Amino acid sequence: MSYEKVDVPADGEKIEVVDAENDQLDVPDEPIIPIIYGDGIGTDVGPAAQKVLEAAAAATGRDIHWMRVYAGETAREMYDENLPQDTLQAFREFAVGIKGPLTTPVGAGFRSLNVALRKRLDLYCNVRPTYHIEGVPSPVKRPDQMDMVTFRENTEDVYAGIEWEAGTDEVEEVRDFVEGEMGFDETIHEGEVGIGVKPITEFGTKRLVRKAIDYALENDRDSVTLVHKGNIMKFTEGAFRDWGYEVAEEEYGSEVITEDTLWEERDGEQPENAVVVNDRIADNMLQQILTRTENYDILAMPNLNGDYLSDACGAQIGGLGIAPGANFGDGRCLAEPVHGSAPKYAGQDKVNPTAMILSGKLMLEYMGWEDAGQLVREGVAEAIRSKKVTYDIERQIQGGERLATSEFAQRVADNIHDLA
Ligand code: NAP
Repeated sequence: MSYEKVDVPADGEKIEVVDAENDQLDVPDEPIIPIIYGDGIGTDVGPAAQKVLEAAAAATGRDIHWMRVYAGETAREMYDENLPQDTLQAFREFAVGIKGPLTTPVGAGFRSLNVALRKRLDLYCNVRPTYHIEGVPSPVKRPDQMDMVTFRENTEDVYAGIEWEAGTDEVEEVRDFVEGEMGFDETIHEGEVGIGVKPITEFGTKRLVRKAIDYALENDRDSVTLVHKGNIMKFTEGAFRDWGYEVAEEEYGSEVITEDTLWEERDGEQPENAVVVNDRIADNMLQQILTRTENYDILAMPNLNGDYLSDACGAQIGGLGIAPGANFGDGRCLAEPVHGSAPKYAGQDKVNPTAMILSGKLMLEYMGWEDAGQLVREGVAEAIRSKKVTYDIERQIQGGERLATSEFAQRVADNIHDLA
């Protein structure tokens, strides 16, 4: 394939997708991996993560050939557009990649490039493992109890982008239809209104819940909790719950059991050799992650619930500088940290690269490089244990030493070298 403005590394090899539905890849020892640094602090955390991932690859006898691609501000400078074809094509061709944060204007301006990337590449599942690293300050008493993985649907819900601005002809047409033809004549207040549509499909729900259950089975996890507001939004979030249970009941046999009762009613007992699928209403779930943290494991959610819940989980283990994530489609992975572009820190070599580094770990694991992923995890943990950390952690601990982004990354890379 040819690219307009970026070069494909001459001496790397392509990751081949063998069976997309089952995420089977053929990964060479010297793969080409596209990377977007992103906006704001992306230029700080991107190179830092590269250094660490290269160290983990080298320590396990491999090499990564990076292919730098662009989105957001840098893409506007090079291509005069936000999300160039080169970038989409690279992620499609090479199957696995990593990106830093991209800025999204609030209200006016272009829609989220992150959402656009996930939709254009059909990366329908956003996964965020949330576990505590010893030594990271946390606002809760027992951060060690947090060990959840959130599965957030990425392509529908109110994020589908079907909405109309107040004052436009379109929104009045939709109001007329809703009031006149659908009979909701006393529902919308008089005066200006903005209207959005919330699609939740059987297809979108089932493929997400399947990924969550498969993950629970493969990783020996105890439960998958469907998180919804089906009590209020019966035909969208309620349907998410029902379709989720359908997958569990119809596709997994005795490996999965569904259960509606509360954990304490069965004395916290885990049925042997089975993943329990249960459900919780989203507002209750936001309490439960704080009050009964250890009872939850995998959470599967529509897009908006997933957005809120995954950040709330992340806060319990030390916040945005730490929290990693990755987006998955069939035979495709795009890793990205949870945090945004934090423009006030851009280019200062100051912020914490851990979230981007641990996102890279998820990418390595998807490639089947579990050994390299484990080295990344241990390298980060060791750096934090030594209390030589970036500002966000240093300001909250006693006796720490403040390191720059690049210094922290070098320390993690050195740890990996020593561990190997
Ligand atoms: P943000 O960029 O995540 O930053 C909020 C605060 O979180 C920062 O001021 C900083 O806190 C802390 N933080 C974030 N990343 C950190 C890191 N690596 N190390 C240490 N601390 C870190 O959130 P925002 O200010 O709401 O969003 C800025 C832009 O990013 C917006 O345009 C938003 O749309 C976009 N965004 C993009 C993504 C994405 O690309 N996936 C995700 C979220 C937001 P302190 O000020 O306390 O030091």
